[in-house]
Amino acid sequence: MAARLTDLSGQRYGRLTVLDRAGTIHTPSGWSCPVWRCRCDCGAEAEARGDLLRRGDKLSCGCLRREVAQARGEANRKVAPGYRAAHSRVKAVKGAARSHACAFCGAPATQWAYWHGDPDELTGLNHGKPTPYSADPDCYEPMCQSCHGRFDRRINEIRRGVGL
Ligand SMILES: [Zn+2]
Ligand SMILES: [Zn+2]
Repeated sequence: MAARLTDLSGQRYGRLTVLDRAGTIHTPSGWSCPVWRCRCDCGAEAEARGDLLRRGDKLSCGCLRREVAQARGEANRKVAPGYRAAHSRVKAVKGAARSHACAFCGAPATQWAYWHGDPDELTGLNHGKPTPYSADPDCYEPMCQSCHGRFDRRINEIRRGVGL
């Protein structure tokens, strides 16, 4: 059986542009396949089997796979921390609330309060009650006990009012 040779030079597959023929792969079972030298959009050169290129199984020098793997890793890291973990993180990033002044009255703060402004808001259990919170430390403000209480009551009114 004479392998029909298709010239892939100049073709584009994903990020790869085929430059020229690099050789042929022969397997012990007698199967063979042309290998093409390609230029990847990232600047790297790569060799790719013709059948993989044409099937769409080879789309880059490997940079695409790395980027996808990285994006997946970041998505996994974004998996929401629990309510308590999120609050510990606020403390770790911004310091103890006691070292800050209350955002409302300026008295020494006693706690970090979720500012209710996070578009990716989460809901967790606080003392058994579903409570909105954020994974982003920037969405917390230091407050004293009484301002925090007043603030949360006000937020609850607003939330009920707009049907949230
Ligand atoms: Zn590449
Ligand atoms: Zn206060």
